[in-house]
Amino acid sequence: MASSSGNWQRIVIKVGTSSLTDESGRIFPPKMWAIARGAQVLGQRKKAKVVLVSSGAGAAGRERLGLKLPLTLPDKQAAAAVGQTLLMLDWSRALAPLPIAQILLSASDIQDRERYVNAKNALEASLQLGAIPIINENDSVATAEIKVGDNDTLSAWTAYLIGADALIILTDVDGLYDSDPRSNPGAKRIDTVSDITEIEAVAGSAGSSRGTGGMVTKLRAARIATEAGIETLVIGGGGAGLEALAEGDLWGTRFLAKAHTPARKAWLTQQASKGSIAIDAGAFKALKTGRSLLPKGIVEIEKSFDFGDAIAVTFERRLVAQGLSNYGSESLRRIMGKHTGEISKILGYKDYDEVIHRDNLVVLEGKKSS
Ligand code: GLU
Repeated sequence: MASSSGNWQRIVIKVGTSSLTDESGRIFPPKMWAIARGAQVLGQRKKAKVVLVSSGAGAAGRERLGLKLPLTLPDKQAAAAVGQTLLMLDWSRALAPLPIAQILLSASDIQDRERYVNAKNALEASLQLGAIPIINENDSVATAEIKVGDNDTLSAWTAYLIGADALIILTDVDGLYDSDPRSNPGAKRIDTVSDITEIEAVAGSAGSSRGTGGMVTKLRAARIATEAGIETLVIGGGGAGLEALAEGDLWGTRFLAKAHTPARKAWLTQQASKGSIAIDAGAFKALKTGRSLLPKGIVEIEKSFDFGDAIAVTFERRLVAQGLSNYGSESLRRIMGKHTGEISKILGYKDYDEVIHRDNLVVLEGKKSS
């Protein structure tokens, strides 16, 4: 049996429909309780924060409304709306006494910069406050054109969004095999994958009829996550598989991460800056020691930018950092040089103490400012 690795601080666990429901599509609580327990055991053992990506809303809603396949789009949307409440009620019971935070995302929440920062901030705040975020796609208002489409991919995006160290995808089959284990009893499990391209041909597209993903979407998710530096594990056994992982046993396949830059930092360095702010020596020192940027340390603002835009941070005309601004340039011009305590008096509101939160900031030092 392969052993698991990793010093993980943030783990995303993707729970598919078939991991949660019985044959009729109804949520089967004992499966969910086992996963809830496994997730908590793993989080405690790794001293990591856990985020869940849970499917099951569509299936639970269809069952509750007595809908038969095939469904029209509005039927699917209604099923998701009804099923999502059932899903969260059950998760809330399964994870009690911990609070859970329902966050429904759609493709634009990751692709659009402003929405990306909003989604990220909501997730960060939920984690800081001790809640377990549970993500699903916002299926009741999403249509095919604007959908992520499957929760394997959504879980990779979520892992990217919160800068996870590991993505764990729970599945019916305990990992990736060199041929289909359902038809070939001699099929062998692949323990570790370092090059996804080589094994993409091995995976079939078949999954169960209740969820959306087969092995193909799991591989796609593994590709997105590992390229962002996030180790990805596709494991079987539901809650027991998670508990085994906490003990160091891997009931599945591990996809090794490609880059070593944390995902959120990698994403940040790829963003084009809309404007720039110059900071004083005190603020520069604070950034270098991992602190956030506050309005007090800003001495100059260049160009015009909005909330959520990537901006450059300069010190003595050198580019020293890049990050996502919590304030637009107009507001920032009014609060620069001021203490955080004065923000609400000056602007009439205060959404953030920090102009750039340290989680949304990457210190670059040494590069020449253009
Ligand atoms: N978001 C869908 C649901 O909750 C599931 C999508 C998937 O199975 O990948 O029903």
